[in-house]
Amino acid sequence: MSLITCPGCGLTHTDRGLPVVPNRAATGECVAEAGAVQAAFYAPDLLAYRQYVVDAYACLHADPSTRIGVQTTALCLMTMDLYLECGQPVSEGSTMHQEMMRNHPDIFTPLATPDLDGVLTHRHLLAPPHSQHAALAAEWARSVWDAWSDHHTQVRAWNHLLVPRRVPDARCERTPSHARWTGIHPHRRSGPQRTHQREHAPGSARRPDARAADGLPPLSVCH
Ligand SMILES: [Zn+2]
Repeated sequence: MSLITCPGCGLTHTDRGLPVVPNRAATGECVAEAGAVQAAFYAPDLLAYRQYVVDAYACLHADPSTRIGVQTTALCLMTMDLYLECGQPVSEGSTMHQEMMRNHPDIFTPLATPDLDGVLTHRHLLAPPHSQHAALAAEWARSVWDAWSDHHTQVRAWNHLLVPRRVPDARCERTPSHARWTGIHPHRRSGPQRTHQREHAPGSARRPDARAADGLPPLSVCH
């Protein structure tokens, strides 16, 4: 039995020879395991929170080498900006993506993948009960969004350009999160140097105490 390490999230799985998914830096094994989490969010009581897991998984497995990969990362970071920073409802994530692409913009540029060590993965949601999934998904999205802090300004600029009505007031002009929370990823470095050698226990965060250790406020679910 050999193990395979996901190039995106760094999780290790038994190598089953599953095919990789185009435009995504992920092993087929990681995609398959995360599929169970994604599927849970089709339940009626979780559907409104599904964008959290879609965006978090996509931005943990960004592929900047293809046009579709670049666009996917941009759109998912943009929705995270809107519901985590701008007060937009996460339940409108799919609609927001449609609005962003309404005029078929060809403006997205590749973003260097940040260091994702310590960022929550889909295993944050594997073991806990269904009743906790909405809150845990919000935590996962926040963890991934914070890791991309070097690109928050660019992401906001794309939102201003493509969906200005979604960033309408002063709430979105306050200090960006990356300026407040830079302590979360003190060892951030550019993507190509990243390595993921360690297995992480199922159901646990890769660094679950990051927010508490940094004295950050508790996370909450957006509606
Ligand atoms: Zn992965």
